Amino acid sequence: MTEAATFVDSSVAILYASQTGNAESISYNIYEEAVKRGYAAAWNVLDDHEKLGFNSLRTVVFVVSTTGDGDPPDNSTKFWRVLRKTTRGNKTAYTHLRYTILGLGDTNYSNFCNTAQRLDSQLQAAGAQAFYAKGLADDGTGLEETVEPWIEGLWAALPAVVKCESAEDVEQVTEAIGRVAIAPANSAPVPLMLDFAAMADLKAITDLECPPWLAPEPAPVPVQADGMAPFAARIASAQLITSPEALKRTWLMSLDLAGHAHSQWRAGDAFNVYAPNDAELVNALLVRLGVSDDEASKLAVLEQVDPKLALPAHLHRFTTEPVSIRDLLTWAVDLSVAPRKQTLRALADCCTETTDRDRLLFLCSRQGVQTFNELRRQAPTALDILHAFASCSVTAGRLIEILPALQPRSYSICSAPADGHWRFAFNVVEYSLEVVDPFSSAEDSSTSLVPAKINRKGLCTPWLEALANKDKKILVALRPNIGGFRLPEADSRPVIMVGPGTGVAPFIGFLQQRIQEIQDGRLAETPFTWLFFGCRHYAYDYLFQSELEDMHANQVLTKLSTCFSRDAAARERFGVPRYVQDEMLAQWEAIGELLVEKDAILFVCGDAKGMGKDVNEAVAEILVKYAEKHPEAVARLVETPSADEGGLSKVQALQVLMLWAKQKRYLRDLWA
Ligand code: NAP
Repeated sequence: MTEAATFVDSSVAILYASQTGNAESISYNIYEEAVKRGYAAAWNVLDDHEKLGFNSLRTVVFVVSTTGDGDPPDNSTKFWRVLRKTTRGNKTAYTHLRYTILGLGDTNYSNFCNTAQRLDSQLQAAGAQAFYAKGLADDGTGLEETVEPWIEGLWAALPAVVKCESAEDVEQVTEAIGRVAIAPANSAPVPLMLDFAAMADLKAITDLECPPWLAPEPAPVPVQADGMAPFAARIASAQLITSPEALKRTWLMSLDLAGHAHSQWRAGDAFNVYAPNDAELVNALLVRLGVSDDEASKLAVLEQVDPKLALPAHLHRFTTEPVSIRDLLTWAVDLSVAPRKQTLRALADCCTETTDRDRLLFLCSRQGVQTFNELRRQAPTALDILHAFASCSVTAGRLIEILPALQPRSYSICSAPADGHWRFAFNVVEYSLEVVDPFSSAEDSSTSLVPAKINRKGLCTPWLEALANKDKKILVALRPNIGGFRLPEADSRPVIMVGPGTGVAPFIGFLQQRIQEIQDGRLAETPFTWLFFGCRHYAYDYLFQSELEDMHANQVLTKLSTCFSRDAAARERFGVPRYVQDEMLAQWEAIGELLVEKDAILFVCGDAKGMGKDVNEAVAEILVKYAEKHPEAVARLVETPSADEGGLSKVQALQVLMLWAKQKRYLRDLWA
């Protein structure tokens, strides 16, 4: 008898750790499908591991994401503490456990899928055995590319370790929402431009595994399980801090906390804003779903139609708390999230026309991957998709069930606790996309492939902008910086801060903290403090200019280095855009000395994709150059000098940076 055969368990637990909702929603889909396939399954967030008796579970599927600079999501911190305690020095703590892991990450950040990797090695070190190889999905190139085939493989691997009961018929429930016409709303759907020509040559869509069941009816959405409780804060002030010529509009808002969260936060922390979906979009969607105004406002509690399936976490509360369809569509589900294949499959099940159904299934297939990517690039709302697939008669209940939870949006606090307010800066997210109508070419070759523009906007920032100076309250919650991106209190080590654009926000809070420490005597003098700031134009988007220049004049900020990527003078002088890392490289010796000789702390905040990576490379280059000029410094950085150069190689310099990150001397707060 094989070992696997002696270890066939009666149930499987699907546990997730999720920061933005992706891991939660993917794990829920796995759970839902496991139940439909006849497995006894449980689904839970990792921090609720005690409820499930984690230490005695025998078969677990983990779906975990990674956040910040390789950190586990907030809703798994308790689990990690327990895991560390249980596994410390104990090589047999989990010999009874068979597991597999689906990790979600982004290769634009360092420590790709660190949560999944750490979990895997800790479980293995404690005797657990993987029954199926872990999958590591990259949001940088598209999660679906890994997630879909990994889940397919899971269904093949699971029977070796878990017994499968035969699937029972799922009761079909038809929702009785009245189809009363209501006044058309202003928010018109945006037509999608998708080319389905590739379908013509297909005999069959081969690799598509459709769920063998039809959708169970209404099931709504998930609720936030953030560490800190949300509260209402009044918008005390709002000021546009860029000039009309700037590429992006940046607002500086201040929230009156009215005593909430007062003692618990520090400069470097962020907070969540709970923003609704656009009201016009919700109205238009209700019309499309055939839900009347009356029906949309009626309060009701949610019922679990299939008793074997738990509702997604964000919908649990509505099983006892009455809620209206309008509120669920407004506050609970994300109507603008990038489409997922699971969602498209569920919509395909609701199509009455085979063309619509086949096209949706094509989008989910391997052959349709290009068209699927184009669909995602066009960033459609749920309404746009329903408009494009006109025969899809999904009910409001089913749509609420299949859309992911609406996640709060995070902003850095750019004040320190002494201020009594949360100040924050945000760019209004609006952009346009170029699309080409593939059908226009077929009819008229003269107008073929004429690109059209579609306009898109963000969810939270246009909403915040509309509230500016309206004396309104918004729902917020503190999001403490678990990665340690905070200025150590009353610490005399030198500090280098790099923050282009709104990445400068937390440093304004750091500098306020410094002012406070000097004023109350905790610091006798300001330690050497250096800020690198970059924006596009000195005259248009130099954020916090007067504050920074005042602090520089007062020597709270010892050195202020700026660059302006699109100013004509800079372009003329350098020939290419001038960025913060170019300024840093120009001053490599001073930076090298601070880092290598003076134990300086380096903070970097801003865009993860371009800036975060490029600054990392630049700092590594600075270390290499410094070691070349000061060979005696090499021994302070590495045990053995580089074999080739006798100094410090680039690879070694990058390793030094990783070590400093672990030691919290190199801290990064990078945002996608
Ligand atoms: P941004 O787009 O990062 O632009 C700021 C400057 O950086 C511009 O001059 C830009 O130049 C330049 N830049 C472009 N590519 C660069 C690269 N590879 N290396 C270095 N500099 C580069 O500014 P932003 O729009 O304000 O975005 C800041 C980022 O910080 C966003 O990712 C945001 O999410 C994040 N963030 C926001 C907050 C917040 O609370 N709102 C807090 C922390 C961080 P060009 O455009 O001329 O190329």
